[in-house]
Amino acid sequence: PPLFIQRYYLVAEVMKNHNVESVIDFGCAECRLAPFLKQVPTIQQVALVDIDRISLEMSRFRIKPMVYEFLEKRLKPLTVEIFCGSATDLDSRLMDFEAVSMIELIEHLYPDTLEAVRENVFGRLQPRLVVITTPNADFNQLFPGFKGFRHADHKFEWTKEQFQSWCDNTADTWGYEVNYTGVGEAPEGFTHLGFCSQAAVFQRKVGHSCKGEKSIGSECYQKIEESN
Ligand code: SAM
Repeated sequence: PPLFIQRYYLVAEVMKNHNVESVIDFGCAECRLAPFLKQVPTIQQVALVDIDRISLEMSRFRIKPMVYEFLEKRLKPLTVEIFCGSATDLDSRLMDFEAVSMIELIEHLYPDTLEAVRENVFGRLQPRLVVITTPNADFNQLFPGFKGFRHADHKFEWTKEQFQSWCDNTADTWGYEVNYTGVGEAPEGFTHLGFCSQAAVFQRKVGHSCKGEKSIGSECYQKIEESN
């Protein structure tokens, strides 16, 4: 499958392996991750969040149940909601979600926004699991005649080392353990470059939860759609 689909499989697989029941997908864009999360039997709550209202409005249909879902009922009920809002803000309705995914979001953020997102996710929301994916700049040399960034809206593309040092620092600061993986393998002889899309999986360390100290947000997101 194409790379973007491989990223959805990766995220769904991580959620499945960690028995996740509730997930927030920040920067959900066209809500394409939703059908993959639906395949994870433990998941009961999905919140899809993006600042681009038009993209969300046009993607409402993606969270509607498919015909086969009426024939083959899930064992556990599932609610999927689409919200318009920013990953820099914490909506009180999403405070207790267990996991966060951010697929190809961070490279679209200016440094101050990226920092605010990091503070919000790791410092305030403090989910037990976070999955982040971003392009691997080391891999770009494998694209013939490549110059600049993979996408015009990218504010940066990090090498493996840059990404891992940002993630290690994040993990140290907020009490997480981090492991690295990715999708899109390099051809033989170039595997040292790493994956085309690099990914980090953060797990909150036991005893490191500061849940009681979480600041309470308000209902700052706008709900666009909900489906059961
Ligand atoms: N995650 C999507 C996927 O895998 O299909 C792709 C993400 S797209 C490349 C980046 C998205 O981030 C855009 O839809 C953009 O509107 C969104 N975005 C940018 N800044 C944001 C913010 N502060 N909070 C939430 N979403 C944001």
